[in-house]
Amino acid sequence: MWPYHSDLLARPVPRYTSYPTAAEFTEGVERSAHDAALAAIAPGAEVSLYLHIPYCHEICWYCGCNTGAANRSARLTAYLDALSAEIDLLARRVAARVRVGRIAFGGGSPNAISAEAMAGLVAQLRDRFDAPAPILSVELDPRSWSSEWEAMLATCGFQRASLGVQTFAAEVQARIGRVQPTELIAEVTAGLRRAGVASINHDLMYGLPGQDIAALEDSIHQSVALGADRLAVFGYAHVPHMLPRQRRIDASQLPDGYARFRQAAFAYHLLARHGYVPVGFDHFAKPTDPVGRAVKEDRIFRNFQGFTDDTSQYLLGLGASAISQFPHLIVQNDKSAGRYRMNVTAELLATERGVARDGEDQLRGRIIEHLLCRGHAKVPAGRFVDALDRLTPFADAGLVTLGNGEVRIAPSALAYARGIAACFDRHREPGQRQFSSAV
Ligand code: SF4
Repeated sequence: MWPYHSDLLARPVPRYTSYPTAAEFTEGVERSAHDAALAAIAPGAEVSLYLHIPYCHEICWYCGCNTGAANRSARLTAYLDALSAEIDLLARRVAARVRVGRIAFGGGSPNAISAEAMAGLVAQLRDRFDAPAPILSVELDPRSWSSEWEAMLATCGFQRASLGVQTFAAEVQARIGRVQPTELIAEVTAGLRRAGVASINHDLMYGLPGQDIAALEDSIHQSVALGADRLAVFGYAHVPHMLPRQRRIDASQLPDGYARFRQAAFAYHLLARHGYVPVGFDHFAKPTDPVGRAVKEDRIFRNFQGFTDDTSQYLLGLGASAISQFPHLIVQNDKSAGRYRMNVTAELLATERGVARDGEDQLRGRIIEHLLCRGHAKVPAGRFVDALDRLTPFADAGLVTLGNGEVRIAPSALAYARGIAACFDRHREPGQRQFSSAV
């Protein structure tokens, strides 16, 4: 069992899918900075593209994503037209200088749009960019699955897919507004295999209303039995003051902090027993999966899509609210689909906000990323004395060791990884409440 220190888990901490985090984004970062960052991409560089589809056929009560109901076809068509315009806009700026190594579709639920529309986006991207053999990945909602989607994934050559499963327990599904029978999840997983998708991820959650260890154990066993190559086991963050849709969830049914901690630890040990490799603090992969192999070789990174084996320095986001990351700048497109459409159809970047990353941020960001992805990080001699000071309670509890210019998280201290990494965050004051608890 992992050691439990409630005081060291009490501080809300970011998930650090970037550093600085989205909480530091401001509208002071303008379109001209976004334009300049695109112009500064080194010729011959490999870039990754992320396309955001902010629609779902059914909205889950717990969801923290930027998504809306896909119930009006005119709305979807207008959005897809805008996305197509932004692909052209971006291609005119960078396609002659870059090669595309990866194309990821996320949301929302990319399969809220038709298989035909998705095939059209992939064809347009391949036509406009130098993308001879991109790794294609997609997030999917099992409830919107269809035989057309299976055929399209095979034809386009998608290699990776992530299914929103969360839990197999019917009574827990009902409590979070996401009902999807086990047979459906099994059928979609099998359909992905038939389509040639080699790496299938199941997203699961702990800390859900009415969920206990037995329910979590059953869900993990079912995903393992279905052959999931990767599993993400996220802690549910109940923040109805920030996400009004969560008000439908009965907070009295939520496990307390200690129960959540035990669930996180249980998932870790159970998946380790099944032979999965831990990836960062809440992902797991088969040793044969590309991400599992990357863990063994210390090649895991963190970006807006979570833990990744993507080595590119440039992640270019397309779509409403999509985020682009450059070494010295992070920018986000307008979250409003209407304003996003207005900009890109007027041939303007849809930049809404962002944050510049100076040398200090880049160094702190690298330390935070290494701690979260690899469990250890080099700290330059004489630097970050304040951060090392803040690590003292973690060191005193035996959760982290400091020495030889390195910070190393103990193997049993994964639950504290975000809190330990946050010690290097110069933007974070102790006690800020806009983040979730560490487990
Ligand atoms: S399917 Fe995913 S993105 Fe859509 S509402 Fe549910 S959790 Fe959110």
